[in-house]
Amino acid sequence: MKIVLLGPPGSGKGTQAHLICEKYNLPHISTGDIFRANIANQTELGKKAKEYMDQGALVPDELTISIVVDRLNQPDCKKGFVFDGFPRNLAQAKELDKMVELDKAIMIYLDDEEIINRLSKRRMCKVCGNPTHMDWLVNDKCEKCGGEVYQRDDDAPETIKARLIKQKLPQDVIDFYKEKGIYEQITSTDNKEKTFVLVDEILKKI
Ligand code: AMP
Repeated sequence: MKIVLLGPPGSGKGTQAHLICEKYNLPHISTGDIFRANIANQTELGKKAKEYMDQGALVPDELTISIVVDRLNQPDCKKGFVFDGFPRNLAQAKELDKMVELDKAIMIYLDDEEIINRLSKRRMCKVCGNPTHMDWLVNDKCEKCGGEVYQRDDDAPETIKARLIKQKLPQDVIDFYKEKGIYEQITSTDNKEKTFVLVDEILKKI
């Protein structure tokens, strides 16, 4: 199963990617997570990526594509994968197309008002990486593993607005996957399990 999840920040791509990977035992490739890990480890890549991420901008394609190539070359990707947050523009979509044949590109749609509401309440688990929500926490801890949670730097209100403007998924990416006959769209619900039922209906057809 070779899948990409498309959609605005906060649409639930990360959560759905976690659920798909759990059910189908696939590697989850989040370019955002890879950048955040590099920032935490203070690598050269992390330093470069941070400049863009702090402004709510996309990291340049050259850097992003190089981390994707490295990741796809790892043996666990042979059985399939779920991309979350890649591609974000046509150049990235075309590069990925040269490397692999995707089964589905699934857009998880959500309108802007709901995105702002969700992102401002989003929290991340320090232990299991689960993207969660203030309302889902149990005693202020991750509802899945009990780990401590934190707010991503780029989920600050000003950066959220910048990301929505600067990172709107271009229509040409959608058209690219429509032309290939692999594009599907669902609307994110406020319940992750319900949204997963919609996603899984698509996956079962592969
Ligand atoms: P995400 O966790 O997917 O929301 O990504 C967090 C940040 O990492 C984004 O706001 C971008 O700055 C950067 N990023 C993640 N994926 C990409 C990508 N495919 N292309 C460019 N920048 C990316």
